[in-house]
Amino acid sequence: MATKTFDAVVIGGGPGGYVAAIRLAQLGKKTALVEKESLGGVCITWGCIPSKALIAAANLVEEMKGAAERGIIAEPPRVDIAKLREFKDGVVKKMVGGIAFLEKGNGVEVVKGTARFVAPNAVEVEGGGEKTRIEAGAFIVATGARVIEIPGFKHDGKDVWTAREAVDLPELPKRLVCIGGGVIGMELGTVYAKLGSKVTFLEALPQILTGVEPQAVQLVQRGLRQRGATVHVNAKAKGYERRGSELVVKAEVDGKEQEIPCDKILVAVGFRPNSEGLGLEAAGVKVSPRGFVEVDAQYRTNVPSIFAIGDLTGAPFLAHKASKEGEIAAEVIAGMKSARDWVALPGAIFTDPEIGTVGLSEDEARAKGYDPISGKFAFGALGRAVAIAHTDGFVKVVADRTSKLLLGVTVCGPEAADLVAEAALALEMGAYLEDVALTIHAHPTLPEAFMEACKVALGEPIHVLKAPERPRKGEAATARA
Ligand code: NAD
Repeated sequence: MATKTFDAVVIGGGPGGYVAAIRLAQLGKKTALVEKESLGGVCITWGCIPSKALIAAANLVEEMKGAAERGIIAEPPRVDIAKLREFKDGVVKKMVGGIAFLEKGNGVEVVKGTARFVAPNAVEVEGGGEKTRIEAGAFIVATGARVIEIPGFKHDGKDVWTAREAVDLPELPKRLVCIGGGVIGMELGTVYAKLGSKVTFLEALPQILTGVEPQAVQLVQRGLRQRGATVHVNAKAKGYERRGSELVVKAEVDGKEQEIPCDKILVAVGFRPNSEGLGLEAAGVKVSPRGFVEVDAQYRTNVPSIFAIGDLTGAPFLAHKASKEGEIAAEVIAGMKSARDWVALPGAIFTDPEIGTVGLSEDEARAKGYDPISGKFAFGALGRAVAIAHTDGFVKVVADRTSKLLLGVTVCGPEAADLVAEAALALEMGAYLEDVALTIHAHPTLPEAFMEACKVALGEPIHVLKAPERPRKGEAATARA
């Protein structure tokens, strides 16, 4: 067996691993990146990127359907799913090619195959019928996570889809049941609803998109209803059977058995870590009972030469978090004093309306001991939103009552996933409500809604009427008279 030696080896070429490898090489480390499938991992090949290509296309269909309201008369749109799939595949190919270009350009050696630890400083990589031993001073394990299967719904790729099949758009089912009202179920279910499927969502918990501001969730649910979809919460999917030409999903909805006929089933009920088969035991790496690799604030496992990042180390399962962790681990390996020290970890959910979140919700702020105030500004009162005919939604800011330190922001509405970037920067820089409220925002633009929401929280709104002062709990109504 051939042996190769590197300063550092990254296992897994997803958004955690490929970024870590680039950063290691930039910092002068002779680096190998081992990937068994495609560079870019789930994110690029069947997750974030292709799903966004489909979401944008589905939005275009809706824009075209609604164009007549704005005086644009066109034929009703028809969806050629083979062409759409081709477009999506082209997007993926371009992105994968971009990553390969970056790795090569930075001097990273990409090794195709499956790595398994045989010692704390060595892995064996099997690929293309060959085995290679690779030794290194440091390893970053970034093998990610995979979809969970639930009893009664064996993923067969035909009747029962995971996100992987749903993103591949094999067909447009007349009726689709989405099991799981998490991010994946809601994003992909929305695509199919927009492309013409009759979609039924089943979510076991009392709310879809658990943890998201309920006012935003209400808007998403309203939007889905308008598109002919049905959302059942407190609905646990139990199993399904084929009856003639259709499938019948059995679910317990609010404690009562229900049968939902459909043509395809999409199961999106969460992720589990890819920690098996890696030889982590052989290397002595500690893994939690649920399979997550335990790390410190520098992403080092209990074995000093082995680091772990991204989904493998636990939720939230976010590509941008994995990338940041990859950069930090690489810097630590290169001798820098980097560590997890971020304040703001934004989230972006591509439902309709879109949702962008960062920092604490009002309830979370209270639970952390703050006395929070909030300010909300609806897109319906914003010139730009009215002009582009996307007025559903709002920006809500949460701040500390006394200091006015900004604690969290939820954007629900047009371009919310992009708009939250400004809020993330504000939180990361320790901004106060005044910092945002006093910053001139170009007019007419959507980010003005963030500035306005901060003004509302300060009690100085311009484009909405000031709410009448209400006494706080336990405070005399005349206290400020
Ligand atoms: P999730 O954990 O976000 O949601 C799964 C949902 O399925 C939960 O709400 C759960 O209550 C429900 N569920 C479980 N069993 C059920 C049953 N038998 N019947 C009905 N409902 C059931 O999982 P996901 O949507 O698969 O996403 C996986 C991970 O990927 C998540 O952590 C998600 O945040 C992440 N992700 C994020 C984005 C984004 O930020 N845009 C996009 C895709 C995925």
